Amino acid sequence: MDLQRPVPQPITPEAKPYWEGAREGKLMLPKCQACGKAFFYPRVMCPFCSSRDIAWIQASGRGTLYSFEIAHQILNKAFKVKPPVILAMVELEEGPRLMTNLVNVAPDPKAITCDMPVEVVFEKLTDEISLPMFQPAGGAR
Ligand SMILES: [Zn+2]
Repeated sequence: MDLQRPVPQPITPEAKPYWEGAREGKLMLPKCQACGKAFFYPRVMCPFCSSRDIAWIQASGRGTLYSFEIAHQILNKAFKVKPPVILAMVELEEGPRLMTNLVNVAPDPKAITCDMPVEVVFEKLTDEISLPMFQPAGGAR
């Protein structure tokens, strides 16, 4: 199979629940048990209060588009995704922001606006790895 992008190689134990969740179509987030804040990316210590008491929650998968860029060139040769590609920073309902791609929408600045509601969809790369992507809430446009 010819993959369109490099496959992440999860090696850090603190990110394991994230990748296991993604494989099952769930967006998992670490949440600090001390201050109650969810955060991203996964790490051993809460970025807000430095507690190591971290649990995992399943995110709703809903959020808003915080920022985006329509890329007409892919300079990294490891990526064989056909441009244009919409790079997106999504702000999740739970608070954290994550870098992703916006999919199932025309790569047209008229069709995409900041703060538009988006929802997660998973792109399966291999049996082990699925990547969270986001599309306009309510499905393809
Ligand atoms: Zn905390």
